[in-house]
Amino acid sequence: MLSIIVPCFNEEEAIPLFFAEMEKIQPLTGKTFEYIFVDDGSKDGTLKAIKQLPSSEGSKVRFISFSRNFGKEAALYAGLQASTGDLVTVMDVDLQDPPELLPQMVQMIENSDIDCVGTRRADRAGEPPIRSFFAKMFYHLINKISDTYMVDGARDFRLMTRQMVDSVLEVTEYNRFSKGIFSWVGYKTKYISFENRERSAGETSWSFWKLFNYSIDGIINFSDAPLNIASFIGALSCVGSGIALIFIVFRALIFGDPTSGWPSIVSILLFIGGLQLLSLGIIGKYIGKIFLETKKRPIYIAKEKSSKD
Ligand code: UDP
Ligand code: MG
Repeated sequence: MLSIIVPCFNEEEAIPLFFAEMEKIQPLTGKTFEYIFVDDGSKDGTLKAIKQLPSSEGSKVRFISFSRNFGKEAALYAGLQASTGDLVTVMDVDLQDPPELLPQMVQMIENSDIDCVGTRRADRAGEPPIRSFFAKMFYHLINKISDTYMVDGARDFRLMTRQMVDSVLEVTEYNRFSKGIFSWVGYKTKYISFENRERSAGETSWSFWKLFNYSIDGIINFSDAPLNIASFIGALSCVGSGIALIFIVFRALIFGDPTSGWPSIVSILLFIGGLQLLSLGIIGKYIGKIFLETKKRPIYIAKEKSSKD
């Protein structure tokens, strides 16, 4: 059995389209499908659209509905928890993750010793250039400063073995950054590429700022480099100002000290003050994460679930 986890947030139009495409693919994979739709607190008729999907011989439809919007990461976690198949895949409902790749992915995982088949976009066509630019910068940066390698252009769409899914579920942190977690758990992953495609229906729920914050989360969750950078800048300015101090004292002893130069003092003060605030901000980001983590709040709250059968 193959479990298909589909996070949905305000996707009433996309759901029937997705289901129709998937049902065409199902016989080609040689697996029975277990759909797990996760309604992430949608405000439209998403849940109704899910409930209207028919179970058939080759496929069973299950769902979880959240009490509010908890975000895609929480939806993925809930879906993985509910899944029972020996193979598990994670797919967006907007058909940006091509279902036609599934039969090939199932073949790959069954005929070799790999534990996961990941997918990546060959290009970023149809995306605003500014978004591509920042995405590239993000991957460049995170792979420099984090021990966890993240593949540029990798999508969440991936096929995993049960063993790998169980390992992902063992990572129970509240601040979830799936791209990092999938890589962190290890196992053998092979990537296949496909051409980027447009959404089938509806609109993306990721604004530029949401993505920007998401990437900052990724960095904070998988690297302590910002803390090291703050300490390094601190040490550097200590040494620099120490040398300057010695120089100024000797100069005053030898040449006397006519009072002047207050503008430079003020600018130095402001500069150092700025550095201190920046470092505090960085430390604060990490403390904020620790705060959320220690509260041990549940990752999601389910309001309604399909009955298990
Ligand atoms: N999604 C979700 N919760 C959210 C935002 C998005 O479950 O808070 C789902 C959404 O329904 C879709 C997938 O995550 O199935 C990817 O979202 P989207 O297509 O908006 O992102 P993009 O493809 O533009 O990165
Ligand atoms: Mg999408």
